[in-house]
Amino acid sequence: MTYAVQAREPGGPDVLEVAEIEAPRPGPGQLAVDVAAAGVNFIETYQRAGVYPVSYPFVPGSEAAGRVTAVGDGVSGFAVGDRVATAEGSATYASAMLLDAERAVRVPDEVPDDVAAAVPLQGFTAHYLVNSSYDVAEGDVVLTYAGAGGVGGILTQLLKLRGATVITTTSTPEKAALAREAGADHVVGYDDVAATVDEVTGGRGVDAVYDGVGKDTFDGSLAALKKRGTLVLFGGASGQVPPVDLQRLNAAGSVSVTRPKLADFLLTPEERAWRGGEIYGLVAGGQLTIRVGGSYPLAEAARAHADLESRATTGKLLLIP
Ligand code: NDP
Repeated sequence: MTYAVQAREPGGPDVLEVAEIEAPRPGPGQLAVDVAAAGVNFIETYQRAGVYPVSYPFVPGSEAAGRVTAVGDGVSGFAVGDRVATAEGSATYASAMLLDAERAVRVPDEVPDDVAAAVPLQGFTAHYLVNSSYDVAEGDVVLTYAGAGGVGGILTQLLKLRGATVITTTSTPEKAALAREAGADHVVGYDDVAATVDEVTGGRGVDAVYDGVGKDTFDGSLAALKKRGTLVLFGGASGQVPPVDLQRLNAAGSVSVTRPKLADFLLTPEERAWRGGEIYGLVAGGQLTIRVGGSYPLAEAARAHADLESRATTGKLLLIP
């Protein structure tokens, strides 16, 4: 039997229910995949609640890992039995799904299913942030926020592998311990950012800021930069940043600001294979640790959404069919 989590209408977590669906049959260019685990992300809570419009019945999910069970016409490079993952699927809260072959990334044998499913969205994001939004160099001093978060924990580890000094924030002592475990050099509260940046850089300012908190931190991010520094604004966990007068970039010291999104950094199968190969390679080699914060049966997707919305979880939440 094939089944999926679906919402018939927008609402709270309780609108998520399990329903039987037809077994997926791949069309041209597609793979059918038995889902081993699906990642739970904030965007799905916005879709479920009706903040981002979707059509109903709606099966959430863009991230998953699993095994190929059938291959559509015209697909090359993938065969039945291959282990694959994606950050760009649809309807992944299910026991089986269809996936465009060009959006599939290979999973090495050494990486278990739960970790494989926890990697793509946050791992590929952290990869493009350190390589492509700003190219981090050895010796850079970098400020980022929410160092115990999903992206934050991976980003911190990648920054350390690049030889950067990392300043990060967390809101509780438990999260501070996790950020230190990820390798952050200076873990502080949100109110202590300016003083810490001054102290660590001798008043010069940081080379780059990675800001996924947005509204509450943007002003502090601009103020923390060195002259000609780079602010990578990649999210708005506290709300989106309101419109900004570009003259402020001049006043802050001829700084640059970029506002990237993952889809623009996964443009071709080659780019996916590069980012996927590097991130899964680091995981397989033990140089990058991915934290799974909770695994829920598919039937308990509502509880997973409620937990995610509480801000109390750390690491990746997964649904297991
Ligand atoms: P996290 O696990 O990092 O959760 C968000 C964290 O932000 C919280 O744990 C919290 O950490 C911190 N935070 C600070 N202020 C607030 C607030 N007012 N409300 C809620 N949380 C707050 O989430 P993700 O790793 O999944 O995502 C991090 C950010 O990256 C998000 O903004 C997300 O939208 C964005 N993102 C962007 C992508 C892109 O390509 N542009 C792709 C993927 C994610 P603490 O309690 O320690 O402060």
